[in-house]
Amino acid sequence: MAISESEFLRVCPECASAMTECSGLVGGSASCGACGWKGKREDMLTVPFAAQMGNPTELFITMRNDLRSLVSVNATHFLRFLVKWGFIPAVQRGDKIEILTTTWATRYMNVIARGVLLAVIEERQKIEKERVDA
Ligand SMILES: [Zn+2]
Repeated sequence: MAISESEFLRVCPECASAMTECSGLVGGSASCGACGWKGKREDMLTVPFAAQMGNPTELFITMRNDLRSLVSVNATHFLRFLVKWGFIPAVQRGDKIEILTTTWATRYMNVIARGVLLAVIEERQKIEKERVDA
């Protein structure tokens, strides 16, 4: 997929939301309607989509939801990890581990999905830049 065949969606560098606004000018201001982030257009992360794939915003939301369900399907593994390393208080009851703070668990699941998404987008951006520079 060459750059010329792609459309870019700009997303928030803090929360990976596509609910962003930015000036069309280089160095113009940008902001996120989801988390309140403010910065410059260039600070935003860009996600390339092949033009023929459809509306970039809708594709991005579908991709993000896909990742969230992947994280939630594997929640047990992540929760075991978080309990094991002391991020979530829990007690052992027989064979089962009872998590004492489910709101923390939910928060961690959300940031795991967000962190993975941001890391993947950032790496893709580096890959695209390397391809352009090469
Ligand atoms: Zn944001």
